[in-house]
Amino acid sequence: HMETQAWQVLDRAHYLHPFTDHASLRQAGSRVAVRGEGVYVWDTEGDRIIDGLSGLGCVNIGYGRPELVKAAADQMQALSFCQSFFNTTHPSAVLLAEKLSQILPEGLNHVFFQSSGSEANETAVRAVRRYWDLAGKPERRVIIAREAAYHGSTHMAASLSGIPPMYGAGGDIPLPSVTHIKTAYQYRNGPGMDPEEFGILAASWLEERILEIGPDKVAAFFAEPAQSAGGALCPPMSYWPEIQRICKKYDILLVVDEVVCGFGRTGKWFGSFYYGIQPDIMQLGKGITSGYLPLSACILSDRVADLLIEEGGEWAHGFTYSGHPSCCAVALENIRIMEEENIVENAEKELIPYFRAKLETFVGHPLIGDVRSVGLMGGLEIVKNRVTREAYPYEAKIGYHCSGEALKRGLAFRANGDTMSLMPPLIITRQELDTVFEIAREALDATAVAFGVA
Ligand code: PMP
Repeated sequence: HMETQAWQVLDRAHYLHPFTDHASLRQAGSRVAVRGEGVYVWDTEGDRIIDGLSGLGCVNIGYGRPELVKAAADQMQALSFCQSFFNTTHPSAVLLAEKLSQILPEGLNHVFFQSSGSEANETAVRAVRRYWDLAGKPERRVIIAREAAYHGSTHMAASLSGIPPMYGAGGDIPLPSVTHIKTAYQYRNGPGMDPEEFGILAASWLEERILEIGPDKVAAFFAEPAQSAGGALCPPMSYWPEIQRICKKYDILLVVDEVVCGFGRTGKWFGSFYYGIQPDIMQLGKGITSGYLPLSACILSDRVADLLIEEGGEWAHGFTYSGHPSCCAVALENIRIMEEENIVENAEKELIPYFRAKLETFVGHPLIGDVRSVGLMGGLEIVKNRVTREAYPYEAKIGYHCSGEALKRGLAFRANGDTMSLMPPLIITRQELDTVFEIAREALDATAVAFGVA
């Protein structure tokens, strides 16, 4: 099935093609966004879009918070830049590192900042490589990732990604040290099974691959707690403890990409808390600043850092914008607001059960084969045949048709292949969720009509 899923290269809005006026861009299906507040964005025509995606998992606390703007501006006024190469740092980076070590799982106390999720994943791979070199086991080279994974668009991050065909293949991608296993995608990989039994089976695919390769050649397992861009693939609760056990058994580093799950998406501060994961390395991004400025972090456990930092001495790895002052100041302010306003706890109690119930109302919709969610990450998988689970052919681009129908009606509703995803901001109200689901239904109904489905 994975081979036949429809994955679009990039949205048209990513390409800046010449245009003369906003109306013609809009004619081509793009919007020009000019202002945001709360869960809404307005375009040049004054039309309002409700952001059902938190700008792809970033904007957890909503658009337009003046406190974040002030934090960025104050920091920029005081110290606009700080190079991080020659033992120079600044208070916002130090305080943010301290704050992160307080809120992260036990034993994750070493923070390396950079700007994007892709870079955080690159850093994680370099840390894995260096770890095994310093541990005297340079033959541990293979990194195991999963189908339908998305870890970024740089070469290694794209190699780790398993979304075909754009991110997981093409040119020299995937790089030869990366291999992909089947994932905890029950609708496709374990239909009809008891979910908890399926979780154990899905984890066994990791052990199977480790044994095929030879445990002493495997460096790390890379995964998101729940797969966002893969189409809201949420594993059963039995999956992660079993993965953890397998990684321990073969001494394989567990590297967890929390770029989307981190900062509240699952209803816990980190997906690792939700699923009970104890990572050796963890990547954070997006939600760390609620998307206000670009910042990401690669967090090393004491186990990894002790070897890299204590024994490893100098390590030539860094970026010009590592720990940019305003980005760190905004992240600190974002976390302060999230704590002060109990944003994660409120989302867990007040919104997630409501969100889940609303999603469930799509069970039985003529286009929808599967409804799944964890926290405020939900997916509605479109199928051609709800009995056989046959997917629409790639060329039909039905998911993209549905996104277009939603955008016309003022909702950002993403197609991950044929799965329609919703990841609303954590500060959305129930009333606003009603609007999201109302438009989502209209978009699906219009798509059903366009595709001749009763
Ligand atoms: N990891 C995950 C899980 C992601 O969803 C993304 C982006 N969607 C990335 C990494 C890459 O982050 P960035 O686009 O900031 O490089």
